[in-house]
Parts: sequence; structure tokens; C-alpha cells
Amino acid sequence: MKSELSNCKECGRLYLVRYGHELCPECSAEQQKHLSLVREYLREHPGQTASEIAAALNLNLRYILALVRKGSLLASLPDRASIYINC
Ligand SMILES: [Zn+2]
Repeated sequence: MKSELSNCKECGRLYLVRYGHELCPECSAEQQKHLSLVREYLREHPGQTASEIAAALNLNLRYILALVRKGSLLASLPDRASIYINC
């Protein structure tokens, strides 16, 4: 496995890159936490738009959209019908 130093896209901290990660371990853990929050929310409230999720969880809309993309979650975009995203 190749490893190198890079700046975290979230907090800018220098960290050792592991394959497939673009965030430092702390931001990555934080993101996992938010990802499971969103998953849970979607399970209880299917068909919510990303902006509704963002408002309900008090998170940034762009952040939610990134999580949806990353986590293969199903959510509706504010101005579109449902989207399925598979990585
Ligand atoms: Zn970070």
C-alpha cells in the first residue's frame, strides 16, 4: 500500500493518506458518524430531500449531498426526483 502525506480536505490538517481516504482520521470518523445519522434518518423518513435532511440534522446541504454521493444513499435532490447513486 502506498502512503503519503496530504492535507485533509475538511480541516486542512496534514495527515498520512491511506488508499481511498481523502480526509484525516478524525474528519473521516466524524463523517462516518454523520453518515449513519443520515442513514437512520432516511430509514425513518423515506423520500426526504437532501435539504430536508440537512435542516433536520442541522448539517450543511452541500455536506449532505457529498455524504449521499459517498454513501450510496437514496435521497431526493431539492429540485429533482429521486436519485440513486451507486459507487
Ligand atoms: Zn481533517
